[in-house]
Amino acid sequence: MTEPSQARHLLDPASQRLACGAGVDELLEQVADGDADRPNSHQRTCPHCQAAIAEFRLLWAPVQDYARQPVSLPQRLRRSVLQEVDRLVHDVWYTLHLTDTGAIRVAARVVAAIARDAAGRVPGVRVALGRSTESRIAELVARATSGHLHPHAAVGVLGRTAVIDLALAVSYGEPVHVVAHEVQRRVIAELKQNVGLQSVIVNVTVDDVSPLSAE
Ligand SMILES: [Zn+2]
Repeated sequence: MTEPSQARHLLDPASQRLACGAGVDELLEQVADGDADRPNSHQRTCPHCQAAIAEFRLLWAPVQDYARQPVSLPQRLRRSVLQEVDRLVHDVWYTLHLTDTGAIRVAARVVAAIARDAAGRVPGVRVALGRSTESRIAELVARATSGHLHPHAAVGVLGRTAVIDLALAVSYGEPVHVVAHEVQRRVIAELKQNVGLQSVIVNVTVDDVSPLSAE
């Protein structure tokens, strides 16, 4: 038996928003209702929403496990999850890892820089982070950056989850899908190993081909 919409009522009514403007309580409710796999059209291209949904799904898992059992859900468990959500969305431009020895935060622009660097080291790749000519992504980036001083709108972070939109130019003659796959693999490995992220999603858009240069 599920208990729909309970997440919303327990959140602070002064509801918080992600960098793209999406409401945190609505996203949490979507996950709590088991609809994480049904993103709307905005969420399908939004790194901020994708990161939030992935992170909330991890956080909400123990609540869902409880809900499947024929016992009443301890109020304390639900409250502690919602408190953690509150902490995570306190600053949506930083990752947050709570450890026994204190909190670790990494700025989204650092995650972006590391991702771009790792992608750029794949042979045959030139990278332009989030600078896709694909209109929906370009529009999203424009919308998400207006009103914020932070330039790296193509990276969404929340807790220990990051979603990165990378637009690439690939050299002529390289097998495009192989290069794109290798970019995903390296960026994910780098961010997990060197930033301590738990869950990393890398969306790659190949936007351009360029002639092999002599450099
Ligand atoms: Zn969004």
